[in-house]
Amino acid sequence: MRKKNHKYIFVIGGVMSGVGKGVATASIGRILQEKGFGVNPIKVDPYLNVDAGTMNPTEHGEVFVLNSGLETDQDMGNYERFMELDLKTEDYITSGMVYKYVIEKERALGYGGKCVEAIPYITNEITRRIERAADMNGSSISIIEIGGTVGDYQNMMFLEAARVLRLRHPGDVSFILVSYLPIPSKLGEMKTKPTQTAVHMLNSYGIQPDILIARSALPLDQKRKEKIAIWCNVTPDNVISAPDVDSIYDIPLNFDKDKIGSIVLKSLGLESKKKGAILSEWRQFVKKTKNSSKELKIAVVGKYFDTGDFMLSDAYLSVIEAVKFSSYTQGAHASLTWINSKEFETGKLKIESLREYDGIIVPGGFGSSGIEGVIESIRFARENGIPYFGLCYGMQLAVVEFARNVVGLKDANTTEINPKTKYPVIDIMSDQKVLLAEGNYGGSMRLGAYPANLKKGTVASTAYGKAKISERHRHRYEVNPEFIMQMEEQGLVFSGTSPDGRLMEIAELPETVHPFFLGTQFHPEFLARPLAPHPLFSAFIAACIKEQGKKK
Ligand code: GLN
Repeated sequence: MRKKNHKYIFVIGGVMSGVGKGVATASIGRILQEKGFGVNPIKVDPYLNVDAGTMNPTEHGEVFVLNSGLETDQDMGNYERFMELDLKTEDYITSGMVYKYVIEKERALGYGGKCVEAIPYITNEITRRIERAADMNGSSISIIEIGGTVGDYQNMMFLEAARVLRLRHPGDVSFILVSYLPIPSKLGEMKTKPTQTAVHMLNSYGIQPDILIARSALPLDQKRKEKIAIWCNVTPDNVISAPDVDSIYDIPLNFDKDKIGSIVLKSLGLESKKKGAILSEWRQFVKKTKNSSKELKIAVVGKYFDTGDFMLSDAYLSVIEAVKFSSYTQGAHASLTWINSKEFETGKLKIESLREYDGIIVPGGFGSSGIEGVIESIRFARENGIPYFGLCYGMQLAVVEFARNVVGLKDANTTEINPKTKYPVIDIMSDQKVLLAEGNYGGSMRLGAYPANLKKGTVASTAYGKAKISERHRHRYEVNPEFIMQMEEQGLVFSGTSPDGRLMEIAELPETVHPFFLGTQFHPEFLARPLAPHPLFSAFIAACIKEQGKKK
């Protein structure tokens, strides 16, 4: 049960999006944890999609999957990584979820003949969900990030709900505005006006921020802190300078320098439960991010890499971070090159060019474009002893490659690409077929955490150092059991399977045959944490380092 005097912090964006509100929320969450509090982060996304599963990652960023299987926004990944938590379904709220629930309840006569209006029914449903998440987590502080920026029509209901929550719980709710201060190049001077305007707008919703995080290219000087303080009606101490940083992992340390923990706690009438310095493990990790000098060249081969101006780094955020964590702990710094697999098909790029890389990753994906180029890359990695790590689609396509080129099953394929193939080595599961037939794309995949057993003496079991694992999934297709024996006879090892042995979770080649050739049906990247790198990513990076050493 939620304790009496449970505290709520709302993090709201001002001026513009993309200034790091998610990472700010995650950093504050981490600091409050280190000060001795149970904290549960909540992400509010004001879109009408019920979850993030139906959104294109190349436009909206990675779809992050929780243990429960809920498909969410990438910010949830940052919270998990910074706060070392496994978040719950209740920790994610979208407008779509809220409206769907209220409308369905109305259809079921759940409102007893009342006229169901947005206020208070939508806002009450929002506060109910926020309070329920707090109950579920047994935390003492909830930190709620409201997506979008002040002034958006879309997030107004959430701001209204936040205002009402403060009214109901006086003294227990704090508002933080993460705002942006531009430095126009012609002026060379930091401008505070847009932030003042954002605060005024927030005031018009009945909300006064208690703390202002001033994002800018440069640190804030005292003069500007005081100016913002007066105009925005906060004390100068509560204006936090948040300049651009090299790495997002510096942010908790920077915030701590400005004593954000004590300031936030004070605004909630709390005191730190821990005396002395905090973030010691985090500091060690950040040191490694700066001191890891061994350069590794990793090629990431995939089909999404040709659509122009979207942020690849957003679409594969967890993969990138997972590579970083495992590299840093081994004194290495991995630079990733994104290779559009279609260029192998058109001849624009020679497959031989992959030889210059220390390792190759094929991440998750859907659909057929560029797939033959991916399969050729996997073949090249396998035949030339280049460490290969396949994530979900990358595992399935490694199985296709092996079936074609080692087992000799000509034109073997996944039925996702060729439903008529003679050798459907990757095929759709029958229970998923039913869902798809109903035209129900949202949530129609094998989603979330599933257990798996590892085979003794394999690359996977050595890496994990245990026999049972649990990993997160997001896919429709599986290795077809009909072909397993043939592939095993030719040397492919299914080193991880579902406990009933039906589903193949990991495929690998033995160490005696290849330095590292492994694919996972799940997405290991979702469980990689800065302070606890993922064992399979670490094993892959170790193999890359070893092979690089041999080249010299
Ligand atoms: N497209 C494949 C499937 O649906 C792989 C999915 C993925 O890589 N996440 O099974």
